[in-house]
Amino acid sequence: MTDTIFGKIIAGEIPSEFIYEDDHCIAINDIAPKAPVHVLVIPKKAIPRLVDAQADDQALLGHLMLAAGRIAEQLGVQDAFRLIVNNGEGAGQTVFHLHLHILAGMAMPEGFM
Ligand code: 5GP
Repeated sequence: MTDTIFGKIIAGEIPSEFIYEDDHCIAINDIAPKAPVHVLVIPKKAIPRLVDAQADDQALLGHLMLAAGRIAEQLGVQDAFRLIVNNGEGAGQTVFHLHLHILAGMAMPEGFM
């Protein structure tokens, strides 16, 4: 649980403001935001990458999506946000504890998505 920076944040070993918390996940502002709103939705269960999730994580994965929607509403960006999961180093993943990026507050770059 505590082997990544997010595990330490969830365990309270590294102080961080939770902008959202429930039984299964937390949300924090990204330390190096790539958009005016850049929030990370992080499950309390440490799954390294999306591809490591198993069938018994199905409810948790759905929960994270629902939480992202609620958090977007809480932040007033429910009509224009982008949700990103980087899976693996080659895709830009740097913290190997599954998380969703909520990005909003700017025109989203078009092109590959
Ligand atoms: P990844 O590249 O793994 O998809 O995303 C990891 C994200 O975590 C990056 O956007 C990075 O800025 C953010 N991050 C890394 N360390 C910390 C930290 O200690 N606190 C917070 N709030 N964000 C972090």
